[in-house]
Amino acid sequence: MSRPIPIIDGHNDTLTRVFQEDGGGVPGFLNGNEQGHLDLPRAVLGGFAAGFFAVYIHAEDVNTGSSSSRGDDGSWTSSPPPIDYAWAARETRRLFDCLDELLEVAAGTVQLCRTVEELNASLSGGPLGIILHIEGCEMISPNLCELDGFYEQGLRSLGPVWSRPNAFGTGIRFGWPSSNDIGPGLSREGKDLVRACNERGIMVDLSHLNLAGFHDVASITTKPLVATHCGAHALCASARNLDDSQLRLIADTNGIVGCNFFTGDLRGDGRFETDMPLSRMAEHLEHMVDVMGDTHIALGSDFDGAAMCDELSDVSKLPVLIDLLRSRGWGEPALERMCHHNWIRVLTETWQAS
Ligand code: ZN
Repeated sequence: MSRPIPIIDGHNDTLTRVFQEDGGGVPGFLNGNEQGHLDLPRAVLGGFAAGFFAVYIHAEDVNTGSSSSRGDDGSWTSSPPPIDYAWAARETRRLFDCLDELLEVAAGTVQLCRTVEELNASLSGGPLGIILHIEGCEMISPNLCELDGFYEQGLRSLGPVWSRPNAFGTGIRFGWPSSNDIGPGLSREGKDLVRACNERGIMVDLSHLNLAGFHDVASITTKPLVATHCGAHALCASARNLDDSQLRLIADTNGIVGCNFFTGDLRGDGRFETDMPLSRMAEHLEHMVDVMGDTHIALGSDFDGAAMCDELSDVSKLPVLIDLLRSRGWGEPALERMCHHNWIRVLTETWQAS
């Protein structure tokens, strides 16, 4: 069997899953235990070379922090409440400690990617690459005093908000059918955070921002615009998805969109069920190519953070998606751009301090 095309994936919540109680921990990740969507043995099978691994903090009371739920009329209704700094800071320290342990135990097999050189090493058969990302900055104070420490620890990407309000802005509430033009954009501190990320070479992720927040980032940042895990709103009217004008704006900055695998953001009917044909995923990617061109697309799985369709039920199945795209007429250059070249271009520019 030929080696699958190596993939840089835009988003997963594997750290959160693996390092929760009964999640398998370091041995579970390294040896595989059939839990969740992503571990090392299955990543190797799927050609997953590197990815953005999110530090995502659940609500302290998980019952109040569910990601998305459906109302009586079938539409999505969830608007998770804020979480507090002390809890987020404590959980972040715990996850960083767990990650340190993983990197120590698996030295040579798993590595932190802080530079494009390290990322290229992962792509060419080296250790599995972890790009450290924060999804929702509740563990960062409004004066940003933690940011340099996190950078030192390897942070290279952050989303100011998850789908809840915090000091930096108002995350998009989950909704279907829904526009994403809901609520105010970034706070003054949120705008400072974008500038601080630009200065240090930390990527800013547009996922989970509402429309006002999206345009705030677009007007401030000096780097290509990036949404790590979103679908096309034209095909699925989820508030988390991007409309064609947003896609065009991202392409205009030479940026990139990682197409989300979450069935609720791909299906046209607003349901979360996993019996979605994989061709639906291809349709989102092809719509993005039609609007932006194939130099601005990528994959953004949301493994371990969302429901996947049955044909793409874990990371080992990534080649099934690639083969499907081939059968629909995608050539190797376009596939390679989507799988990794586009990321390398964007991160080469973004990770330079300015
Ligand atoms: Zn997310």
